[in-house]
Amino acid sequence: MQQPLWGIDLGGTKIEGAIIPSLDNPDPVVRIRVNTESDLGYQHILKQIAVLVEEMKNKSGNSPLTIGIGTPGALEPSTGLMKNCNSTALIGKPFKRDIEALFQIPVTLANDANCFALAENHWGVVKQQFPQARVVFGIIMGTGVGGGIVIDGKVWNGHHGIGGEWGHNFLDESGGKCYCGRTGCVETIISGPALEKYYQEQNGSKLKLHDIYIAAQSGKDTTALQTMDRLCHFFGKAVSVVTNILDPDVIVVGGGVGNIDLIYQKGVKSLQQFIFNPIVTVPVLKPAMGDSAGVFGAAALVA
Ligand SMILES: [Zn+2]
Repeated sequence: MQQPLWGIDLGGTKIEGAIIPSLDNPDPVVRIRVNTESDLGYQHILKQIAVLVEEMKNKSGNSPLTIGIGTPGALEPSTGLMKNCNSTALIGKPFKRDIEALFQIPVTLANDANCFALAENHWGVVKQQFPQARVVFGIIMGTGVGGGIVIDGKVWNGHHGIGGEWGHNFLDESGGKCYCGRTGCVETIISGPALEKYYQEQNGSKLKLHDIYIAAQSGKDTTALQTMDRLCHFFGKAVSVVTNILDPDVIVVGGGVGNIDLIYQKGVKSLQQFIFNPIVTVPVLKPAMGDSAGVFGAAALVA
């Protein structure tokens, strides 16, 4: 009998677990959440994961042979330590080793953008609209900007475990300092907070990105229009760099900024300007999995 897929999505506030029968049958037999309570520290996070897995065992009457885990940040392959995590309790910790010691089974880790790309590939918009796609680039544009590459149904992690991390590619000096220590990263220009900051710098008032988008649609708020133009211009410019190297079959855009429809029109037009090809035919799509992408993608890691 085929082993069901156990997945855990470790988020900043919640840890979600799901047991999915198989790639062909994604209807979860168990799906539960516990609070991360990450402010209580690394050992507490491990304890919460143990609580979650215990409950998954009880509810399913089974034990896992392996688990896929989606994490913020990535594992450095040479040291086995976590890095680039926005959940700072994990940074520098041997998370994979600790989890494997805890459950006495092998686990597979991937960052949340990789899990997003994987879930959309296997069950989401890629599966629904472009099932023949071999190379998928999943973008997360929200508070931060990240990405994941899926090739033939598998995550491409890369030599340093940073495959797909385009959010810290250099984009433009005008983005200013990034938390990562560099200047002008993609994230400093087209993340939600970066666009809100840009709007505030131009006209002094503070608006949420969604409200800036609404204001731009009215046509009267020129700063809002400028902010949306900035998003679309730089979206195309940033994605063109990835496209010229990877030339994916499909691009899926998740995260809060991905809800802005202009990206799929003006943003794609901008991509056309910067890509090394006379036309853009790569589909740039909205995701279909919603909040489920994290835990489903984590489960797909062990398929
Ligand atoms: Zn950066």
